[in-house]
Amino acid sequence: MTGRAGRTVKAGNQASAGDLLELVRSGRATTRGALQQATGLSRATVGQRLDRLFRAGWLREGAGGPVDSPLGGRPSITLEFDDAHAVVLAADLDTRHGRAAVLTLTGEILAEHTGVLVIDEGPEAVLGELGRWFAELLEKAGHPADAVCGIGLAVPGPVDSDTGRVVQPPIMPGWDGYDIRGRLGRAFAECSGARADVPVLVDNDANLMAYGEQRAGYPHCSAFALVKVSTGIGAGMVVGGAIYRGVDGGAGDIGHIRVGADALCRCGSYGCLAAVASGGAVARRLADSGVPAASGSDVRDLLTAGHPEAMALAREAGRQVGDVLATVVTLLNPGVLMIAGDLAGTPFLTGVRELLYQRALPRSTAHLDVVTSRLGERAGLVGAGALVVEYLYAPERAEKRLAALGV
Ligand SMILES: [Zn+2]
Repeated sequence: MTGRAGRTVKAGNQASAGDLLELVRSGRATTRGALQQATGLSRATVGQRLDRLFRAGWLREGAGGPVDSPLGGRPSITLEFDDAHAVVLAADLDTRHGRAAVLTLTGEILAEHTGVLVIDEGPEAVLGELGRWFAELLEKAGHPADAVCGIGLAVPGPVDSDTGRVVQPPIMPGWDGYDIRGRLGRAFAECSGARADVPVLVDNDANLMAYGEQRAGYPHCSAFALVKVSTGIGAGMVVGGAIYRGVDGGAGDIGHIRVGADALCRCGSYGCLAAVASGGAVARRLADSGVPAASGSDVRDLLTAGHPEAMALAREAGRQVGDVLATVVTLLNPGVLMIAGDLAGTPFLTGVRELLYQRALPRSTAHLDVVTSRLGERAGLVGAGALVVEYLYAPERAEKRLAALGV
């Protein structure tokens, strides 16, 4: 994806083929001359390193034709990342349903499936089913199992991204500490005949939605926050182009901030924001007054239909979330605050704005855009796919993978 900030790359003789790939992928240097200029490498060394990338199938010459060289002389051929040499699998799990897709390396969805996948049934069953979905989707997209370079998974709980395990998740019974990577890798291999060692990356759903949305719509925003309000409430932050997770992967878990009410939360505490202002909480209140609703998605359907009581409750929930977001915004000073999830419609957003602008310092909100999702229900998938690609093609890992390919 061009235009994103891109990582720091090494210069001089230190610059590897992986560094050159990063420069091309980020759009910072896309001709041989520009790569020489950016790294200080000689023309011959740039040529040798690019040759490895061509042999791996990772680079191709651009369709746009030659452009003027920054070093003068003959116009140069532009280079681009060849996103056809592999595909990524991605999935986004919610409490009651899941979404899975095959994506290109630049984030285009080639085949997609959504269906019932109940997180309460535990990781063994859910990940086994996901392995089957992936195998079917690949077949539908017409790609062999060995074209898959990695799998990205978004889950509705806090994740230790070093191990890919969820840590004390409030709404994922049976998942705490479970080896998600191992199980999903094996499930996919059993269903598709792929190697069992396909890399699997797991992250929190709000983190991956934020990552997908920031890259797709706001690549130059250096502090981006997304709040997902569905059955639960969670937030993801992308700071300096990278997901901000905190030391334990717990950053952004704003659903369990105590707001003083006495409602019992699924985490076992009383008075959490999620217990009073989530889609689940709104559904309970509607059910108490005789309106059939059990989950965030039921509330979304009622909001779409313009149900007056659902709209009033969504606006009140927005005010409660907005009050907490005033603190978030004061702490992070983001350029974009995106509201996503089942409740992210006009009544909720109006409520958020009412309290946010009333409670936050004007300086924190002067350059703040409060927006709704661009990618919609696909944000988590797109973010999960991008996470895998950024992990696999980061300069040092790319270099190791090139060596393993024997180029
Ligand atoms: Zn809670």
